[in-house]
Amino acid sequence: MPLRFKNSLTRTKEEFVPIRPGKVGMYTCGPTVYNFAHVGNFRAYAFEDLLRRYLKYKGYDVTQVMNLTDIDDKTIRDSQAAGVTLKEFTDKYIRAFFDDLDVLRIERAEHYPAATDHIEEMVAMIKQLVENGLAYEVDGNYYFKISQFPDYGKLANLDMDGLKAGARVAADEYEKDSVSDFALWKAWEPDDGDVFWETEIGKGRPGWHIECSAMSMKYLGRHFDIHTGGVDNMFPHHENEIAQSEGATGEKFVNYWMHCEYLIVDGRKMSKSFGNYYTLRDILDKGYPGLAVRYLLLATHYRQQVNFTFEGLDAARSALDRYNDFWTNLADYAGGESSGEADAAIEKLSTGFEGQLDDDLNISGALGSVFDFIRDINKLRAEDKLSADERDRALAAITRIDTVLEFRRQEEIIDADIEALIEDRTQARKNKDFALADKIRDDLLARGIVLEDTPQGVKWKRKV
Ligand code: AMP
Ligand code: ZN
Repeated sequence: MPLRFKNSLTRTKEEFVPIRPGKVGMYTCGPTVYNFAHVGNFRAYAFEDLLRRYLKYKGYDVTQVMNLTDIDDKTIRDSQAAGVTLKEFTDKYIRAFFDDLDVLRIERAEHYPAATDHIEEMVAMIKQLVENGLAYEVDGNYYFKISQFPDYGKLANLDMDGLKAGARVAADEYEKDSVSDFALWKAWEPDDGDVFWETEIGKGRPGWHIECSAMSMKYLGRHFDIHTGGVDNMFPHHENEIAQSEGATGEKFVNYWMHCEYLIVDGRKMSKSFGNYYTLRDILDKGYPGLAVRYLLLATHYRQQVNFTFEGLDAARSALDRYNDFWTNLADYAGGESSGEADAAIEKLSTGFEGQLDDDLNISGALGSVFDFIRDINKLRAEDKLSADERDRALAAITRIDTVLEFRRQEEIIDADIEALIEDRTQARKNKDFALADKIRDDLLARGIVLEDTPQGVKWKRKV
């Protein structure tokens, strides 16, 4: 069966056919870096990780771009409240975001463009939209004129009849019932303080939507394969991205739109504004390993809601124990007399796993195949019916599958080695070799060891 995805644009499951054979260009809406991301946000990034890892498993060469929104109303407001520059403020949360990605073993994208580094590209696009009769200026603000773009509403399936022409909204986020011309560029206001750019279209700053159009096209071209995000991004954000991009180029923007459902708590979307959120750090501090969070986020089909509970995390931890114990026990097994059954179990694993993920990333089905395999091979091993060769083939099969799941616990690093590396890092910092010092910190983090610099010296703890 070919690889198929549910395309939010056509609302059907379609075979995935890349624009360029063997290559996939994929854009993912990234975090607004004004606070620590919560685990609801990481549901979206974990889904995108599954998607990119499975595409790579299938042999595609993936180029993923994830933006960092380091300028918007919230970053400006909170950096001012903290009394630091916008850059100092957002840098802290960008670093925290990457640390969290590592703890969740979310593979790095190829590009992480920051909005503030791409103002020029955004201004060029706004100028193009004005030239195409799709944007206009009012008091230094620029708006997109949706009545001039007949396809407006096609992603969110909006009924555009009865729309009040000319209604405008300056806020980046708004509900479907306030469909209106949206801001591309906001003129400077005293509240913005020293946050502004002097540009050909005036002094001000970009709206949120234009950043994703400008940066996705810069890194992936005018027309690319996949655009992802959470369902809340569909309207207005992705609808507006389509309008801006297609309005500027006159070409189709994206072939496949994929949106993941919410992570919910007590029946409600986890969200900063509802105050019902946990950051990854909150959960790690309760003693849960990062891998259990990864498991919980991944194990439900991306188009279904994930219910976040601590019981769910406990269950994730047990499933990971089963997975990792299987692996360790098999690796330690010397091998016995083959009963000839192992190869069928291995074959069933790869066809089951791929067949399910090919069907719009049906992860629950795929995990079913993995745990069936674990049961079958465990049984053969317990009965001493597995040869050393079969053992090796079984290990190779699960190792390949783990390039997608990434559920294997890393080998324990012993305390003495950690302390020796911390000493090397301290020495590197004394020598002002900050690149080496950062590398040591990142390598340790990748192995689940988190360092904290305190006035009393470096402290460390295990996370995974
Ligand atoms: P934001 O910082 O609010 O723009 O969100 C960043 C990403 O997280 C977007 O792709 C959102 O769709 C996604 N997101 C936010 N809250 C949730 C949630 N509770 N469940 C799943 N995804 C979410
Ligand atoms: Zn975006």
